[in-house]
Amino acid sequence: MKKIIFFLAITLIFKACKDESKANGKLNIVTTTTMITDLVQNIGGDMVNVQGLMGYGVDPHLYKASEGDVNKLVKADIIFYNGLHLEGKLVEVFEKMGSKTKTPIALADALDKRTLIGSEYFASNFDPHVWFDINYFKQFAEKTATILSERNPENAKTFEANKNAYLTKLEALQTSITQIIATLPKEKRILVTAHDAFNYFGKAYGFEVVGLQGISTATEAGVQDVQKLATFIIEKQIKAIFVESSVPKRTIEALQAAVKSKGHDVKIGGTLYSDALGNAGTAEGTYIGMFEYNVKTIVNALK
Ligand SMILES: [Zn+2]
Repeated sequence: MKKIIFFLAITLIFKACKDESKANGKLNIVTTTTMITDLVQNIGGDMVNVQGLMGYGVDPHLYKASEGDVNKLVKADIIFYNGLHLEGKLVEVFEKMGSKTKTPIALADALDKRTLIGSEYFASNFDPHVWFDINYFKQFAEKTATILSERNPENAKTFEANKNAYLTKLEALQTSITQIIATLPKEKRILVTAHDAFNYFGKAYGFEVVGLQGISTATEAGVQDVQKLATFIIEKQIKAIFVESSVPKRTIEALQAAVKSKGHDVKIGGTLYSDALGNAGTAEGTYIGMFEYNVKTIVNALK
């Protein structure tokens, strides 16, 4: 019943707000994750208003739209989201909206599915954490610029210039992280974290990735998984394991305790940003700053 009322509310607000868009002549854009918010701000620049639904430390797998969010969504000229079922609980809302005047844009639709990592955990059948391969994030940038230019042709040149400037920065990021990773011996490139957000990272930059919780935070790690992984850590002499900013610490702490109970030590190498960026206004509050921070934290702790 609640659901029906919710969708009814969406429909009503839709009708009420149909013509109420483009405040100050700028496109009103709503985004989901902080990575996408940062991306759209970089490419849209001063020509767009961007409102991100999810903030620091927010887990997109579990995120549900609030009434305020629904209001923002129906007023938006464009909605950008990750897709591949990352925003698992928002999919229903988006599908409902898609049948109306505007279709939310899943940036992952721009990617060649044949190159993605499969996953049984998601309804999409793919691992959705694609932003951890910078090449995929570059394709997100291309798609964003294309959509903005289509919807707002007067500013197409600006969007194109912003995109090119941002792509240059992403290329510099690729160079810098490659150099940092090169300082870590190959046999030490094993990344153990709370949930499997880093498979694309591992594939792109040469790390073996082991997630304790499975690929979505919606499933909890079992005692057996913890014991198995503890043995693996001891065998491979892994020095550090990592907490994630958007996932509770307890699973990684349980793993650390399991290693200790077997007479060994593994340290917690730091907190990685996985499904959300750091606080706005800090370096880690941007995609580029987050990526560099993660790579430095991983490499320093595993050396
Ligand atoms: Zn995740």
